[in-house]
Amino acid sequence: MFTAASVARGGRRVRVLESKPQFEPAPRTLIVTDQFRSQMGASARESIVNEIRRFELFTDGRSAQVALTKPDLIIERSRLIPALAREAQQAGANLSFDTRFLGIGPNARGLRLEVETGGQREELHADSVVGADGAASRVARASGWPPIETVPLVQAIVRLPKDCPPDTTRVWFVPDDTPYFYWLIPESAERGAVGVIGENGGDTKRCFERFLEKKHMEPLEWQGARIPVYRGWVPVRRQIGNGEVYLVGDAAAQVKVSTVGGIVTGFRGALGVAQALLQNGKSQELGALRRELGTHWLIRRALHRFQQKDYSELVDLLDASTRQSLGEINRDESTRLLWSVVRRQPRLVLLGLRGLLMGKTEKN
Ligand SMILES: Cc1cc2nc3c(=O)[nH]c(=O)nc-3n(C[C@H](O)[C@H](O)[C@H](O)COP(=O)(O)OP(=O)(O)OC[C@H]3O[C@@H](n4cnc5c(N)ncnc54)[C@H](O)[C@@H]3O)c2cc1C
Repeated sequence: MFTAASVARGGRRVRVLESKPQFEPAPRTLIVTDQFRSQMGASARESIVNEIRRFELFTDGRSAQVALTKPDLIIERSRLIPALAREAQQAGANLSFDTRFLGIGPNARGLRLEVETGGQREELHADSVVGADGAASRVARASGWPPIETVPLVQAIVRLPKDCPPDTTRVWFVPDDTPYFYWLIPESAERGAVGVIGENGGDTKRCFERFLEKKHMEPLEWQGARIPVYRGWVPVRRQIGNGEVYLVGDAAAQVKVSTVGGIVTGFRGALGVAQALLQNGKSQELGALRRELGTHWLIRRALHRFQQKDYSELVDLLDASTRQSLGEINRDESTRLLWSVVRRQPRLVLLGLRGLLMGKTEKN
C-alpha cells in the first residue's frame, strides 16, 4: 500500500490486489522506533496508541533500565492498514479486494498475471509487479525466488501488571527457552502485549505458557504468525521477459533480525522499490536498508549462542554511559548505535566476538 501510494503519486497507474474480501485486519500490537513518524503520512500516524519512554532488561535476577530520549511508539495494525489504504486511494491507486494472485509469466509487452477474483479466474497485464504478500510470498515463489526461513512469534494480550508503568517496555533474556527474548509492551494503562520469538513452534508455545504462568499473566487474546529471518540481502528485483518483478517487506525478509521487527524496515523497502520503479531502477534507500539489515544480522549472530552467563555479563556491562547511547540512538540506526556503544564500553566488543566465535565453533 505504501509502495502503491508513492508510485501513484509519481504518476504511474497502480492496481493493488488483496486476497482478503475487505480490510478487517486482525488487531496486532506493534512497537516501532520514532523513525516511523518521519516515514508516515498524517493519517497513518493516527495508528499510534501509546508511547514508550523506558526499557527494562531482565536476566537471571539482574536488571538494567534504558531511558529513551525519543519515545518508541506503540501502533495498532488494524488502524494502520485502513489508513494506508486510504492514502493509496487518495494518491490514485485502485484497490481490488477478494483478488488472489496465483501465477505470473511473460507476455509480448510485459507480464501476464493469473488471479482469482470472487471465485473466477482472470488474466491481468502489467509492466511491473510488486510482491508485498508476506513471508510465504506466492509472487516470490512464482517468480523464481527461493523460500525464506521463518521463525514462530507468539503474542498474548494481558491485563497490564500493576507494577508495570504504561510507558515502560520489559524484555527478558532466557537463553534456556529461546535465543531471542520475551517482551511485555503496554498498549494502554490497562492492557499490554506479552510475547516471545522462538525457533520451533511447539517448544515456543510450551515455554510461553510456562512463562505466562510464572508471571501470573492470563491471556485475553492471542496473536501470532511466522516471521522471516534475515540471513543476507534478498535481491529485490527480477526480470521476467520484458517485465520486472519486485519484492517488499516480509516477502523479501526485510526484518531486523536482532529484534525481529519488520515495520520500519519494510516501509524502507517499500520506499526503495517505489524509487526504483520511478527512477529507472535506481534507489539510494535500498542500499542504505541493505547496510542496516546487515548490521542487525551481525548483532544477531553475536547474541544467538549467548548462554545465561553471557547475558548476565551483558547486563552488568551496561553502565550509565552505555545506557545513554542506547537511549539516545534508536535501533533503526544500528551502525551509529553500535559504534557509540562500543566506544563507551569496549568490553562489549569482546563479549560480542565471543558470541560470534561460539556460533562458528558449533557450525564447525
Ligand atoms: C504477532 C506479531 C507481532 C509483531 N510485532 C512487531 C513489532 O512489534 N514491531 C515490528 O516492527 N514488527 C512486528 N511484527 C512483524 C511485522 O508485523 C511484519 O514484518 C509486517 O507486518 C510485514 O508486512 P508485509 O506487508 O510485508 O506483510 P503482511 O503483513 O504479511 O501482508 C501481506 C498481505 O498480502 C496479502 N496476500 C497474501 N497472499 C496473497 C495473494 N496470493 N494474493 C493477494 N494478496 C495476498 C495478505 O492478505 C496481506 O494483506 C510482528 C508480527 C507478528 C505476527
